Amino acid sequence: MINSKDQLLRERAASVIPGGMWGHMSTRYLGSAYPQFFERADGCRVWDVDGREYIDLMCSWGPNILGHHHRVVEEAAARQRSLGDAMNGPGEVLVELAELLVKTVAHADWAMLQKNGTDATTACVTIARAGTGRRKVLVARGSYHGAVPWCTPSLAGVTAEDRAHLIHFDYNDVASLEAAVEQAGNDLAAVVVTAFRHDIARDQELPTAAFAKRARELTTAADAALIVDDVRAGFRIDLAGSWEPLGVRPDLSAFSKAIANGYPLAAITGTDRFREAATKVYVTGSFWYGAVAMAAAIATIKTLRDTNAIASMNAAGERLRSGLDAAARKHGLLLRQTGPVSMPMVLFDGDAEFSKADAFCSAALREGAYFHPRHNMFLSAAHTAGDVDLALHAADAGMAAAAQVA
Ligand code: PMP
Repeated sequence: MINSKDQLLRERAASVIPGGMWGHMSTRYLGSAYPQFFERADGCRVWDVDGREYIDLMCSWGPNILGHHHRVVEEAAARQRSLGDAMNGPGEVLVELAELLVKTVAHADWAMLQKNGTDATTACVTIARAGTGRRKVLVARGSYHGAVPWCTPSLAGVTAEDRAHLIHFDYNDVASLEAAVEQAGNDLAAVVVTAFRHDIARDQELPTAAFAKRARELTTAADAALIVDDVRAGFRIDLAGSWEPLGVRPDLSAFSKAIANGYPLAAITGTDRFREAATKVYVTGSFWYGAVAMAAAIATIKTLRDTNAIASMNAAGERLRSGLDAAARKHGLLLRQTGPVSMPMVLFDGDAEFSKADAFCSAALREGAYFHPRHNMFLSAAHTAGDVDLALHAADAGMAAAAQVA
């Protein structure tokens, strides 16, 4: 929008922020109609700086799980804020949260806290190496584990040495995992897997039971760590851990995003096998002990547990998925909707360049629903059936626009 507040902020940003914006929230990957800057949020809605309101299907890219301004979480955070946040040590809430995580996450004998998902995945890898005395770390091709040299998707500024001990396999491909384990030989420290395959711009894949079980067998046989990167999916599939329904328990898990309903926090949980290693490594950060986010996390996890929030998100997800399918059919389009319904990936058949997806999203955006054309989306427990129906109403306009794309 010319002369919009968003445009003016972008112009100011362009001169003081490299590229105008960095990272996953840069709108350079989205249609020109997308706002870069937001003014406020409430429940499952967001308002951009020009005052336009959207039903939000991205949920801050995961952190918003109970809805913005959730009363119980905000009261817990406010109570702790009035006591103190970043002090010379953590508050009582640290122990309370660690106890809650150990009780909630099935494999957990202990927990440690950080700030971002990358802190957590990186700490898991460090602990696995410390605990095994080995170097090789197996990661799935295309999986995202964070934005530091060992795992960032951009190779700018990354050296070959940063990745010298990574070996790749294909997610859900048992033979390629076995080959990678073989290649690591007696230097295998860890296998790192995301909760399910949620790589950008492709169909999502739930892990097969055979893949998950083999990953467990191979790491157990090698006395290496199985690390589940639950940063994105954690608390949306199963509070006990995303691989719990598969009957496979990792040695180490990384969580962040939804853990504190938008307050900055990450956590790793581990088994006793890696407790000593976790004691030895030096992992820390200036803000890792902030008590407000911990209080928010306790309130978030207890609310998720006590309100059956995962079932609510699944119900909203089912409604969205079937409504989108119906809208697509109405306009003669075929969709591929993959992964858990609460974390939708919506791709169009015959849309290699994502031009249908872009047309869909831009038109739906103008009608008040914030979808993403290439990344998985997120639902929250604040999305009611009525909110989903509003998003579907906008989606109908989106499908009409997508149907115009050759
Ligand atoms: N792992 C996964 C699976 C993620 O989705 C993300 C964030 N998108 C990360 C790690 C990194 O988390 P953060 O951005 O909080 O560092």
